[in-house]
Amino acid sequence: MSTAVTLNNIVKRFGTFTAVHPLDLEIEQGSFLTLLGPSGCGKTTTLRMIAGLLDPTEGDILVKGQRVNTVPIHKRNLGIVFQSYALFPHKTIFENVAFGLKYRNVPKAQVEEKVKAAMELVQLPNVGDRYPSQLSGGQQQRIALARAIVIEPDVLLLDEPLSALDANLREDMRVELKNIQEKLGVTTVFVTHDQGEALAMSDNIVVMRDGRIEQVGSPWDVYNRPASEFVAQFLGASNLMDVRAEGAGAEKVAVELPQFGKFEVDTTQVPKGNASAKGKLVLRAEKLQLSDTAAKAPTGHVTANGTVEAVDYLGQSVRYFVHVGDEKLQAINTVGQALFDQGAQVQVHFDPQNCTLLGD
Ligand code: ATP
Repeated sequence: MSTAVTLNNIVKRFGTFTAVHPLDLEIEQGSFLTLLGPSGCGKTTTLRMIAGLLDPTEGDILVKGQRVNTVPIHKRNLGIVFQSYALFPHKTIFENVAFGLKYRNVPKAQVEEKVKAAMELVQLPNVGDRYPSQLSGGQQQRIALARAIVIEPDVLLLDEPLSALDANLREDMRVELKNIQEKLGVTTVFVTHDQGEALAMSDNIVVMRDGRIEQVGSPWDVYNRPASEFVAQFLGASNLMDVRAEGAGAEKVAVELPQFGKFEVDTTQVPKGNASAKGKLVLRAEKLQLSDTAAKAPTGHVTANGTVEAVDYLGQSVRYFVHVGDEKLQAINTVGQALFDQGAQVQVHFDPQNCTLLGD
């Protein structure tokens, strides 16, 4: 696989404030990469540097191996979609989509053909004569996407493009956007603070915090093998338990939790550089299960006694807060499994394979 975009030691400072600390990243040709993190973590700044809207203070940006730091935005072959649709209000939809092509002096017949194809791809083939104000928000966002892809960009840059849409439309657009990206095979960098969006759409997720990368990995990796407490907490509900570990560096690491006893995890469950004698065990809330007797726990699970402190009914699932010794743990179980009331004595159990062990 070849690399479409490379960021080499990119830094961005605004005065004395460092928004992006030295950051390295390689984005694979044709892949969908998401910059994910809370507000202010530097994802938009990173995207804007790739776009050429901001100059990096230090470091190099390469697109297809060519350094583009000094190449102005209109000479980088990029498609950009922002949260606000940013369509030209006084141009028709056709003129909006055609804009980048006319700018590139593409012959008229080809412009017609390409605009038609792009509008078909976003499933709005018949609105060319209308003006942006005559379209809904979702339709305008599709047109913004058509305008970005019509030029066959080397990289498609998407800055929270779905966040102005209402919840249902957003989910539909998520699927559509991903389908279009796959169909075109265009390298895409997507910025969002929405974990669900990132998990559903990405080939790779870059989790950012305070201008630094916390973890890069597939959706499965960042969700199931978080490399830090921050990632574990940012992507869904997690239990973090203090543990003692033995055999760091070996194939199997013996872990001891006061209430659950001793059990083993293997090296794939210990992020690199994270092994130490004292650590934190991360367990997703939906991987912690409750039953009324220990006999119901599947073979291989480790178990402990607990008391249900609180119950939140969430519709498709129930969230329990359970006291296990000194720990307060969360369990999210799908409805259909046994239901427990506040105060119930329960067996709490989990499969050690589902944990990640972090160093202290
Ligand atoms: P959001 O989701 O809120 O857009 P973000 O992760 O995209 O957040 P950035 O917009 O990249 O964050 O901002 C990163 C940090 O840099 C923030 O603390 C922000 O206040 C700061 N920042 C961004 N642009 C400027 C600027 N032009 N001047 C000064 N500080 C800035």
